[in-house]
Amino acid sequence: EGIVIAIDGPSGSGKSSTSRGVAKARDLRYLDTGAMYRALTWWMLDQGVDVADAAAVAAVVDRPELTMGTDPGAPSVAVDGRDVAAEIRGKDVTGNVSAVSAVPEARERLVRTQREIIAAARAESEGIVVEGRDITTVVAPDAPVKLFLTASAEARASRRSKEVRTSDVAGTQADLARRDALDSSRKDSPLTQTADATELDTTGLDLDQVIALVVGLADE
Ligand code: C5P
Repeated sequence: EGIVIAIDGPSGSGKSSTSRGVAKARDLRYLDTGAMYRALTWWMLDQGVDVADAAAVAAVVDRPELTMGTDPGAPSVAVDGRDVAAEIRGKDVTGNVSAVSAVPEARERLVRTQREIIAAARAESEGIVVEGRDITTVVAPDAPVKLFLTASAEARASRRSKEVRTSDVAGTQADLARRDALDSSRKDSPLTQTADATELDTTGLDLDQVIALVVGLADE
């Protein structure tokens, strides 16, 4: 049975680059669960579902088929066979993903799908690195390696700005703060639960250093 490495953290914490780097270094599969919430949101918007209406979202969560490619060198995401990798990074999806991810039925559906992907990877390969917000608490609480990545608000905004190629770092920082607040506003939010994860502050570290630290933990 392959290993599971669970990595949570806010956006800009270095989660995605770290997770892909660790998966490549250890020859593991890779799953970006944020991409799944984004893909479901893209489909809702495409279908004209009012994402502010939780009941409307809940009624259709099972309809789209999500296909996640778990190669860390070329991760992919498709909805009903259509590649939506570019679309899910757009402003529309980013602005609406918190509303969709707040709907319990949407979370149940995606957590179920995530556990299926993890089980398949464990059976067929050396294991999988899974990144998100609730991997260490809800999706894979029994993972042998559990990490919570953090970074200062400034470092997160600066990294995120580079990712989306904007020079507006202050605006990006405000955006991140807004999404963090929305994601953790619900008292019962799985995103505010704490786990016995190892906290790793990546603020002053470069990517290779963080990857080496995580690979070291996995080898222990
Ligand atoms: O990681 P990323 O910024 O792409 O995640 C997009 C959004 O998906 C988050 O803001 C959050 O609302 C949601 N999400 C979640 N649970 C996860 C991963 C992402 O609710 N495990």
